[in-house]
Amino acid sequence: MPKKKFDKKFDKKNDKKKFGTGRKKSCRFCQDKELRIDYKDGRLLLGFVTERGRLVPRRITGNCAFHQREVTLAVKRARILAYIPFTATQVRHANF
Ligand SMILES: [Zn+2]
Repeated sequence: MPKKKFDKKFDKKNDKKKFGTGRKKSCRFCQDKELRIDYKDGRLLLGFVTERGRLVPRRITGNCAFHQREVTLAVKRARILAYIPFTATQVRHANF
């Protein structure tokens, strides 16, 4: 039994190393001034949406507060105009 416990702890440590907590993320839109957030650019916006259609949080995308707000607005507009699916069921039908 004590061996198993040790193994679990070891695995957790390995996971932390794999995901690299020390890496810095920077805002893609701040770095590239020519890259613009456009609600008509569905491909760009799909990078900020999960497979299920949910918005990806800032701590994962690395966007700054200003640009995350812009992305959110753009995604919401794009959903209404059907550039981006609302939900996963729509994903299945549209073959995204
Ligand atoms: Zn930014």
